[in-house]
Amino acid sequence: MIISASGNIILHYLHFPMEEHLKYMKEALREAAAAAAEDEVPVGAVVVCRGRIIARGHNMTERLKDPTAHAEMIAITAATEATGGKYLTDCTLYVTVEPCPMCAGALAWSQIGQVVYGAIDPKRGFSLFSPGLLHPKTEIIAGVLAEECGALVSDFFKKKRKQ
Ligand SMILES: [Zn+2]
Repeated sequence: MIISASGNIILHYLHFPMEEHLKYMKEALREAAAAAAEDEVPVGAVVVCRGRIIARGHNMTERLKDPTAHAEMIAITAATEATGGKYLTDCTLYVTVEPCPMCAGALAWSQIGQVVYGAIDPKRGFSLFSPGLLHPKTEIIAGVLAEECGALVSDFFKKKRKQ
């Protein structure tokens, strides 16, 4: 366990092999695959509240012609619609790739209880720019199915370069 600069607890998956996290990250991976099928950068997210998936989202920046239509933004909006409140304190967001600073900011506003992500994003990940962006009470778990999550994105860009 690592405590980040902001006080967020970063639990590494290797130390916490939790079946639940695997199950929901696989659902986020399904969302990412749906993005790839639509020729979108394959990032997927689900929001889980009290053992139930209440929202799903995948990257839709091409379809919506909206650079802010990241998987997390779509999932946050869908989740608040589902709960009817603007805070997601009791919820966990699973996302295949580390959130960017924009999404981390939105997650902070939502006061989400937990963020679980797969692959790190060494170029755009929030932790690179501002590790303290998330809400101080938000717990972070990094690296769940990181290889699978990262491979989806790298395969996508490999194919793009060949086109
Ligand atoms: Zn983002």
